[in-house]
Amino acid sequence: MSALDTLISGGDVLLPDGLHRLDLGLKDGVVAGVYLPRTAPEATKTIDAYGKTVLPGIVDIHFHVRAPAYPERGTVLSETRAAAAGGVTTMFEMPISKPCCSTPQELSRRRDHFNENAVIDFALYAAPGDLTDSTRDKMIELGCIAFKIFTTPPPAGRTDEFEGLAFPEEADQLRALYLLAKTGRPLVVHAESASLLAHYEKIAQSLDPSNASTHGKSRPDICESVAVAKLLAMNIKAQAKLHIAHVSSAQTVKVLRSFLGTSDFTAETCPQYLFTTEKDVARAGIYAKVNPPIRHQADQDALWQAISDGIINYVTTDHAPFSKEEKKAAEGNFPAAPPGVPGVEFILPSMLDAVARGRLSLKHAHDLISANGARRFGLYPFKGALLPGSAADVTIVDLTGETVISAKTLHTHAREVAHLYEGRHLRGAVTQTILKGNTIFLNGAVTGSQGGGEFVNPNTQNDRKID
Ligand SMILES: [Zn+2]
Repeated sequence: MSALDTLISGGDVLLPDGLHRLDLGLKDGVVAGVYLPRTAPEATKTIDAYGKTVLPGIVDIHFHVRAPAYPERGTVLSETRAAAAGGVTTMFEMPISKPCCSTPQELSRRRDHFNENAVIDFALYAAPGDLTDSTRDKMIELGCIAFKIFTTPPPAGRTDEFEGLAFPEEADQLRALYLLAKTGRPLVVHAESASLLAHYEKIAQSLDPSNASTHGKSRPDICESVAVAKLLAMNIKAQAKLHIAHVSSAQTVKVLRSFLGTSDFTAETCPQYLFTTEKDVARAGIYAKVNPPIRHQADQDALWQAISDGIINYVTTDHAPFSKEEKKAAEGNFPAAPPGVPGVEFILPSMLDAVARGRLSLKHAHDLISANGARRFGLYPFKGALLPGSAADVTIVDLTGETVISAKTLHTHAREVAHLYEGRHLRGAVTQTILKGNTIFLNGAVTGSQGGGEFVNPNTQNDRKID
């Protein structure tokens, strides 16, 4: 019997201190070791990674499938296959589903459903539901990765999807912060002010619903920045582990900056805010509708500055597929269109492209889309690193390759509505994705099996001892 199952040889391996020309050995689903060239023990299988870069598998901490509800929008199988193709080996599923994942029963049901169908590993967010200690404790015992709330009311007609998840009242937001303080579980918040949204939505009623700028005007940056400022002010009292989802504006960056050091808070942004602006919304129409909206160049510049200053340390996909029929039915009508774009196949190529353009280092890019999230949510270094004992989750990329975004080659069920990035040429390509030692994507083809992904439970991951 060989000492190693697999040796990935000749590549540049990304370790916590940067890139090294090393061989990487995998055994029994974990990293066995890294070796100088020609010093590794014998392996059953060798992967030649010469000329390639070997990354810890990507950990996407903001993902929506909504399953088992709404299979017409995409299933656990279709969307985790897309993730595998994008080099993502672990995703954190948000609690929006029908019914909402705000009870222990629903959390167990979703865990079982994802276990049977996921091609990659997954963690599950819980919504705090009735805001009681007993619900919270049961969810934590079941292994939810964290909790999520919205500061907005449920969208029209979607009340049950947001039951126990949407808390537009400040008193409830404060209760949620106190509920999670001292548990070690982060509270992730979609932050837009409910009363300012109502105010601006009323104003937007007199605007042309087909004009791309209407969406931005119905949810301007102040809706986000005010909600974030209130949460951060409340958290000075509550001292929860707070994480602000999908920051989109320069205004909010200013708020984050001004609260630095007042509590344990972190913030993420998404490729749609870093790589596109309202000009792309004008081109892609309602297919580019997301909440909060994609804004202006000055906002994009402020987000990149916040990344370089360490104010924003996470980039997530907010992958949210909708069916062609749903999107098509709202064509030319921004207020009626469902918000969300599929992004899991673009996040790594987009960041590699930014690296190729000299915007940031490869290590920083990987930290943003992987290692930092794993660390914040208690999974590092089992996930997000390639240290001995880490999961054998590996993404091999060709930094000189090219990714062309085309509906023809995408794997997401929402490929026909992925117009926001359609036609982009990105420098860098994912060539192989490995989950726990098994190849799940290779040269354009998904090879991972349905149910091959496992539930990532922070209660047990935390006990692992890794040198
Ligand atoms: Zn989301």
